[in-house]
Amino acid sequence: MTFDIVTIFPAMVEAALAAGVVGRAIGRGTLAVTVHDLRGFTADRHHVVDDVPYGGGPGMVMKPEPWFRALDSIAAARPGRCHVVLTSPQGRPFTQAMAGELSRHEHLVLVCGRYEGIDERVRTRIDEEVSIGDYVLSGGELPALVMVDAVARLIPGVVGDEQSVIDESFSRGLLDFPHYTRPATLTAPARPGEDAGRESDTDAALTVPAVLLSGNHAAIRRWRKREAIARTLRRRPELLAAAALDDEEREILRELVAQGSKGVEDGRH
Ligand code: SAM
Repeated sequence: MTFDIVTIFPAMVEAALAAGVVGRAIGRGTLAVTVHDLRGFTADRHHVVDDVPYGGGPGMVMKPEPWFRALDSIAAARPGRCHVVLTSPQGRPFTQAMAGELSRHEHLVLVCGRYEGIDERVRTRIDEEVSIGDYVLSGGELPALVMVDAVARLIPGVVGDEQSVIDESFSRGLLDFPHYTRPATLTAPARPGEDAGRESDTDAALTVPAVLLSGNHAAIRRWRKREAIARTLRRRPELLAAAALDDEEREILRELVAQGSKGVEDGRH
């Protein structure tokens, strides 16, 4: 899959792309990501990308011509259908389902606004506007990075173990189950003000659930399903209406609902 990202802060985007799962996928050639400096598409000596707003008011607006040139140049360099996404707090809220939709495009172009945003006429070249949440950031670079990361994880070969992507929060409408690693028992120092000798909720929370140490794979699988459903029921119950549950999971959900919220997420005790 190919991404082109257009920004006035290429170094900021390139630094983040170099790390972790995405960085390794780029290194292996599973993903191709090109970051373009919008200033390279200006026609003046000072590479100006912004101007005052018509009608007055605070802030500056990104000039349209560099954007048209940048998008033309990207389209010319990579013939074929590309999907152009404008990062915008006014766009469709980004979700795991949308990451899935975007991952089916061969070529995504991510447009990073700055200042008050981009001249409205550039929208004629935009296929969709995407927001990463109901808050306003200073620029589209972080949203573009969020989208590249979430979309890239869904491309075969990017994440080492594809089962981990299938199990992840939101993939089937459920939050992920809790994860533990060694050591099996942990002694944490008492918090300031806490009696060090007292047996507390923290002690139980620091013990790995016995089922995970049992070697009983069927029991572990069922425990994980129960924990994922219990966690979703407690934290994000609205997700369950659209969750793709199998028969066993539906039965677990019925049990948990019948028990009421008491004990939910405490299946290990
Ligand atoms: N004046 C705009 C408004 O009120 O809708 C906000 C512009 S914001 C300061 C500058 C740029 O940051 C936007 O053009 C967009 O590219 C990006 N941006 C800010 N918040 C965002 C969000 N929640 N999701 C996606 N992009 C965002």
